[in-house]
Formats: sequence, structure tokens, C-alpha cells
Amino acid sequence: MAILVAGGAGYIGSHMVDRLIEKGQDVVVVDNLSTGHLAAINKKARFYQGDTRDKAFLTNVFEQEKITGVIHLDAFSLVGESMTDPLKYFDNNIYGMIVLLEVMKEQGVKYMVFSSTAATYGQPQSELITENDPQVPINPYGESKLSMEKMIHWADKAYGIKFVALRYFNAAGAKADGSIGEDHRPETHLIPIILQVAAGQRAQLQIFGDDYNTPDGTNVRDYVHVLDLADAHILALKYLKAGHPSRAFNLGSSTGFSNKQMLEAARKVTGKPIPAKIAPRRGGDPDSLVADSHQAREKLGWQPQYDNVEDIIKTAWAWKQKHPQGYND
Ligand code: UDP
Repeated sequence: MAILVAGGAGYIGSHMVDRLIEKGQDVVVVDNLSTGHLAAINKKARFYQGDTRDKAFLTNVFEQEKITGVIHLDAFSLVGESMTDPLKYFDNNIYGMIVLLEVMKEQGVKYMVFSSTAATYGQPQSELITENDPQVPINPYGESKLSMEKMIHWADKAYGIKFVALRYFNAAGAKADGSIGEDHRPETHLIPIILQVAAGQRAQLQIFGDDYNTPDGTNVRDYVHVLDLADAHILALKYLKAGHPSRAFNLGSSTGFSNKQMLEAARKVTGKPIPAKIAPRRGGDPDSLVADSHQAREKLGWQPQYDNVEDIIKTAWAWKQKHPQGYND
């Protein structure tokens, strides 16, 4: 009786797998290693290297293993890249979901926890975004994830595949012992880039735009620790197996931090000056994305362990210091 983690070699996936194994769960990982790292996968998981768009590969995994539920974290996720190469996102994310749902249907697997995103909301209408707010993505990444949410919705109606879509805000941090963490090639995310500057690997941070409609003009985001996200998936599976109907939950801290505030927090945590300059806007960035996530707390019983960004940055800094070159060290 195993849980399949699709994308288990990625940043969130590797923490997900680690947490499931810590809880005594049998775990199967599929990943094509296009962005993930073999070294990131907990050795107690059974790993199959391949692409979720490859139906024969995926069918073979389901036939070899007794999969009772799927955690789907298997997607491209860069807002900026999706603006310049949208078809890459639609192919990998949307087509990958079609194949995965087909195989789940054929193999009679009824539960999926799906990694969705705040990017499905687009430019928010309210300060704290609720699950019922309009979903009008302003970048192809968000569009692909919204399409995937809609696909599972209809797959539930037609085939009874029950799902929880978890709309993450900004995943951040690392396992506190520094053994696994965030390692994207190339790196585009705010916290790891700030820490590359702190570690002397990059000359300065470029803050993408300071003319947004926010208190200090820089984008505001809601940072959630990656292991708190992982815990929410475990609770979501339990929720589905208890017979609750399919639905979406926001996962955030309900507190927004601007890019400038994140820089200040990282200066404090690392004790490094971290030079920065204002650069032009990056395409596809909404002004502010902050979650109302009381539904996840009430209905799933989600209790995030990390409730301030400095503690989150500390864990990312521990990983950075232990693995300055990421998984190459
Ligand atoms: N950002 C930035 N400089 C960088 C990388 C990111 O100013 O070198 C900003 C980005 O424009 C956004 C925020 O940091 O406002 C978070 O971006 P990230 O890519 O980490 O996550 P996203 O919100 O796109 O999922």
C-alpha cells in the first residue's frame, strides 16, 4: 500500500517524500529528473525514473506497485519562464495531468492531492485571497494549473477520482538539518537568490520592480515552510480517505512580506549586507498574493509549525551553508 509522489525529486517533492517516510508511509516516486535531483529523494522511497506523459511507463509503475493515492507535484512552475515559453508549460503540465488521470482511472486509484497555486487567482480582488475568489490567471503557469484543477474536477464527476487541490502561496525554507533543500538550475526564486548573494556567489539581488500597488512598491508574497506544505498533503489524503468531498484549500500564512522586507529579513538572519538594486518588472507578477488559509486550518486541522519568515529563512540558510553548490556538494 504505497503513496505515489509524482515529482518526488523536486524541491517540494523531496520534502514531501521525506515527511511521508518519517511518518512510516511506503512511498513510490516517479520523476523524470528534468529539474529534480536523484540525491534529493529519501533512499527509503522506491524510485522510477520516467515522464508522466509516458503512459506505458506510468502504467508499468502502477502495475508493479500497490498505489492507494497520488500526490501530484509534477509540473513546471516558473512564472517568468511560462511567459516566454507557454507551450512548454501546457505540454508538460496539462498533458502530464491527462495521462496521470487516465492511468489512475484505468488502475482504479481514487485519491489525488494536487499541488495547485496562488497563481491561479491572477491579480487578486481582495487583500486576503479565499478559495472562492475568482481564478483569472495572468500567466501561463497559473493558467496551466487552473486547467489541471478543472480536469480533476471533471474526472471526479465522471470517474470518482476524489481530489484536494492545495493552492500554495510561496513555498520556502528547507529541512532544518540542512540535508535537503531548494536547488533549481538556473535559480530564479527570491530566497535562494538572496542567499546566493549572502554566500558571495552572486554580486547583488535584483528586485523586480518597485512601482507595484503595495506599501513599499515591491511585490508582496506569502511564504510558507515547505515541510508545513508537506504536512498539509498528508492531512489532505486523510481527509479524502475519510470520505470528504473534493475541494481546494489555500496554504499560506495569511501574512504578506514585500520583496524589500524579505531582503531585510535575510540580512538579519545571515548578518550579511546583501547588496540589492531595483530592476525592471518581471512579466506576470501580480502586485500581492496573500492567503486566507483558515479553511485548511479548520477543515484539515493544518497547524503550520513555522509562523515567521526569519525562521523560514534560517532553514534555507542552514541548507545553503551545508550545501553551497546545492546537490553537487
Ligand atoms: N524576485 C525578485 N528578484 C529575483 C527573484 C524574484 O525581485 O531575483 C521577486 C519576484 O518578482 C516576486 C517575488 O520575488 O515578486 C517572488 O518570486 P519567486 O520567483 O520566488 O516566486 P513566485 O512568486 O514567482 O512563485
